[in-house]
Amino acid sequence: MSNLGELYQEILLEHNSKPRNYRELEDFNCSADGFNPLCGDKVTLYLKVENGTVVDVGFQGSGCAISRASASMLTQSIKGRSVAQAQETFDAFHVMLTEPGAELDYETLGDLETLSGVIEFPTRIKCAILAWHTLLAALNKTSEPVTTE
Ligand code: ZN
Repeated sequence: MSNLGELYQEILLEHNSKPRNYRELEDFNCSADGFNPLCGDKVTLYLKVENGTVVDVGFQGSGCAISRASASMLTQSIKGRSVAQAQETFDAFHVMLTEPGAELDYETLGDLETLSGVIEFPTRIKCAILAWHTLLAALNKTSEPVTTE
């Protein structure tokens, strides 16, 4: 498994050095700030939600490689998805990092599976999950009705 581990680490480092969607959106209708005092990670998410779909997403922040890579992957994975799908992705990600041995929803997770190894480092789980809690906070502030479809 060590080659797989190295591959995962490469993807993680690549996201850290070239984070995707690393910008403040000029036009957004929900945003939230997240802070992980254990590590000092900060993240701000900006979302543009239209007709129940996340049409654009950006983030800014500072922190460790895991928090930045996780936020970068988050923006990639929810852009173009419905709000309901974004919440499903949160759920799948949360299970992956908090329930050892649980059956994972690989289809929903996609590249996020790269971060599954974090479960072995309890102090880093908060780093990986920070952006995701920030996402839920941002979505809950949206003026758009959240559907359960
Ligand atoms: Zn961190």
